[in-house]
This record gives sequence, C-alpha cells and structure tokens, in this order.
Amino acid sequence: MTEHAVVITGGGPTGLMLAGELALAGTDVVIVERRASQDVDRSRAGGLHSRTIEVLDQRGIAERFLSAGHVAQVQRFAGIPLDISDFPTRHNYGLALWQSRFEPILADWVGELGVPILRGREVVGFAQDDTGVDVEVSGDPSLRAEYLVGCDGGRSLIRKAAGIDFAGLDPSTSWLIAEVEMDEEPELGMRPEGGGIGPVNRLEGGGPFGVVLRERHVDHAGDPSMHELREALVAAYGTDYGLRSANWISRFTDMARQAASYRHGRVLLAGDAAHVHPPQGGQGLNTGVQDAVNLGWKLAQVVNKTSPESLLDTYHAERHPVGARVLHNTMAAVALSSPDDRHQALRDTMAELLSMDEPRRRFAAMLSGLDIHYDLGGGHPLLGRRMPDLDVHTAAGPTRVFTLLHEARPVLLNLGEPGGFDISPWKNRVRFVDARHAGVWELPVLGEVAAPRAVLIRPDGHVAWAGELTDPELPQALATWFGAANPAP
Ligand SMILES: Cc1cc2nc3c(=O)[nH]c(=O)nc-3n(C[C@H](O)[C@H](O)[C@H](O)COP(=O)(O)OP(=O)(O)OC[C@H]3O[C@@H](n4cnc5c(N)ncnc54)[C@H](O)[C@@H]3O)c2cc1C
Repeated sequence: MTEHAVVITGGGPTGLMLAGELALAGTDVVIVERRASQDVDRSRAGGLHSRTIEVLDQRGIAERFLSAGHVAQVQRFAGIPLDISDFPTRHNYGLALWQSRFEPILADWVGELGVPILRGREVVGFAQDDTGVDVEVSGDPSLRAEYLVGCDGGRSLIRKAAGIDFAGLDPSTSWLIAEVEMDEEPELGMRPEGGGIGPVNRLEGGGPFGVVLRERHVDHAGDPSMHELREALVAAYGTDYGLRSANWISRFTDMARQAASYRHGRVLLAGDAAHVHPPQGGQGLNTGVQDAVNLGWKLAQVVNKTSPESLLDTYHAERHPVGARVLHNTMAAVALSSPDDRHQALRDTMAELLSMDEPRRRFAAMLSGLDIHYDLGGGHPLLGRRMPDLDVHTAAGPTRVFTLLHEARPVLLNLGEPGGFDISPWKNRVRFVDARHAGVWELPVLGEVAAPRAVLIRPDGHVAWAGELTDPELPQALATWFGAANPAP
C-alpha cells in the first residue's frame, strides 16, 4: 500500500490548486483523477474574478493566465454589469478564460511542483481510522493517507461516503448549454425566455455558436440530446436556424446545496464537492480555487505537526460562510432572471440601484471575492481581510507584498523602525521582513484605512494580526496560526 500525507480525489480546478499549495509547503500529496486527460468541454467556467487573479499573483503565476485570456469588466449581477475599474487592486478587472484553458495551465504548474496525478483512476471508497485513511482506487492497490480531500465535484463520492449532509434547494429550472454549428445566421443576443446565442469566439464572431436555453422541464434522465436542443431552440426562437451539429451539449440547473460540514475527521471537502449553485455570476470555480488556498497551508501545517488538528476547524469556520453567501447571491440572481414583466420591473429597479456607487461597490466586491472578511475578532479593519498588494522597499530593493508570498509562507511585515521583534522562536516558519511603504492603505468598499506599523500575513494573503510589534497579542497570533514558539536554542 503506497502512503502519502494527503490524497486528493479530483484534479479539477480545486484539486489542482490545493495540490499546488500543499506541494509549495513541502507536503507529500497525490491526486487521483478519473479523467484520462485534463480536457474539459467549454460548458463550464468562462473566467476568473479579481480575487482569484490576486491569489494566483500571490504565487507568481497570474501572468500565465492573463496572457492566455482576455481582460475585461466581466462582473455581472443578474445580468447587470458592475464595473470595478476604480477598485484598489492591481487586477481591477476579470479575465475571460475558459475552464478548458485554465485547467491545463494550472496542471502545468502542479506538474512543475512535482505532484503526481494518477489519471484515469477512480476513488471508489475509503475507510478512516485514528491515524489515517485507506483510499480505495479502482483497479489499483489502495492508498494510505493521513488526510483525504474530496475535490471531486458536485456529485462527490467522498462527501456521500463520509455521510455529510448536502442541504439546500432542489432545481426549479434547467438550462441546456451547447456549442453548435448552424446553416442559418442566428439572431444573436439574449432572449427574455431565458437564453441566448453568441459566437463562441467573441473577438472573431461567426460560428460555432454558444447557445443557452431554458428548458420546459426540470427532471431529465440521461445526457441531453440533439432532439432536446432542437426542441428548445424552436420553443425560444420559432426555428432551429438549421442546426447542423453540436460540438457538445450539456445541462445545468439552479440547484443550490452546501455541505453541512467541510470536515469529517480526516476527510475534508473543497470546491463543488462542498457547494453547488447556479452559474449566475460565474463564482463556482473561483470559490473552489479560494477554498483550496485557505485549506492548503493549514493542512500542510497539521501534517508536518507545526499546528494542532484544530487549525483545520478554521477552514470550515472561514469558508462555509463564504460558500453560503455565494449560494445566496446566485439564488437571488436566478429569481431576478424570471422572464415575466414583473421580474423585468424588478431587474430594472436593481439596475437603477446598482448604478449608484455604494451599492455597485458592495455587490462587485462580493462577486469578485475582494471583500471576503474572515471573522478573526475585532481590531484593525485589515484583520481577516485580504492584504493589499502594496509596493514596498526592503533591504533587497523594491518589491510587492504579493511577491513576498510566492513561497506560500507567512510573512511578518514590519513597516516601522527595522527590527524591534524577536522572531527567532518562529524563524523556521515565519519570514520577518523590514520594509517601507509610502502610499495610503486602501481596501475595496471600506476605502482608506489607517496604516498599521506591522502586519502578520497568512500564506493565503489574509491578515492574521495588525498593530505595533510591542503588542502582546502578536506572539499569541503567531502561535495561534503558525504553531507554538520554539524554545530558545
Ligand atoms: C454551465 C456552467 C457555467 C459555469 N460558469 C462558471 C463561471 O463562469 N465561473 C466560475 O467560477 N464557475 C463556473 N462554473 C462552475 C465551475 O465549472 C465549477 O465550480 C468548477 O469546475 C468546480 O471545480 P472543482 O474542481 O471543485 O470540481 P470539478 O471541476 O467538478 O472537478 C472534479 C474532478 O473530480 C473528478 N472526479 C470526480 N469523482 C471522482 C472519483 N470518484 N475519483 C477520481 N476523480 C473523480 C472529476 O473527473 C473532475 O475532474 C460553471 C459551471 C457550469 C456547469
């Protein structure tokens, strides 16, 4: 039986990101992935939001994605555009990039970090005991792991086998989504019936066309067919525009469910395995990648015995409310998208409200993930929020805060007089950096905040403590997040 510290089931966006985070922290991790290759059709995510681009920037890999996609103001609530170009972030935009392009780029990075991916293999069950988990893999000897993470999508076997409740709403509406070739020139754009047609390559126009159509029924057995697609086209447009062929046809619904717990003993859930919701607002992949960045360093510290197992409880405590909020805003967006006149009036009202600065900022910060605030208690407004990517001067020259996070290690950033704190009890875990910063500190939605003298930044880019280096709470924060002080040598 092969042993690993962590086995990840599923090498989609969430599993790949988690594997990268664990590998950066020196954890022995393996991915088991059912698909034989990284190929995925274009029915899924169409892009990245600002905070996801930021977390990739924190690892020094944002450019790989930016150069493959198309930067744009992609943010929408119930179809209402929300511009974030005035937001205080280097990435004050979204990135149009199909999941089919995103996954191979992320997989390349994971490959560079040396993570093995067992492709074409399926996890079919597991059994956990006090010291680890036996993971049953179809056709292969079992794997033994200290922890098993289910990143295996909405139908997660890991979640079901762990007996974790997936509470929420059944679907009320079903949509077909397809990439098709048509003999006639279709009428482009959105239809009030709940669908639309657009060129797949928006820059070049022309076919193939991407089609989204609301279906008349919700319950379907089996995969969607050409016949159903044709029927739905005729129902929406009165014609199938000479539908010739489909490169792929898929289906999605407005089901909204969330795992009651993101952890059961030595088994954890992340990404779609932990939360499914309608695709409105394009938040699924983004939320999964950010789950992974929250979990990775914590799991690594527990595995290498830096931190007690209780650190893993903060993963559920921090990420479950984020997932719940995504379910909530997507349910609202679906309700608003009903095609009748009353809902149109409601959409118009929302659009008017969202044209005002304060509501626009709040909704855009929520959908982009830039306003995520983990509840770490009261204190400086930075506490629990994302650290802004400041330009700073260090002894090594000018740099950016995100550059200091490339290795996924915690950073104690001192912006006051150099020195002034004895980091030696945490030296092997926390990087102490003396730096200077001249500009203002500005956060999305909150605006300008008082400049702290020092900040303790977690590997996920969230602030664990902010204040004076003489603050007695600093050693406590270091111990809480990065393990007990080592005795003096
Ligand atoms: C129509 C549509 C549009 C969307 N648009 C957006 C968008 O614009 N923006 C956005 O952020 N998100 C969007 N999403 C959501 C996004 O696609 C998902 O949230 C994202 O793929 C979740 O990633 P994941 O890695 O958690 O799960 P998945 O991508 O589902 O990956 C799970 C992986 O686990 C593997 N697996 C499953 N079971 C096993 C097993 N037993 N053993 C081994 N491997 C297994 C699967 O093969 C798969 O590779 C959209 C989804 C849909 C359907």
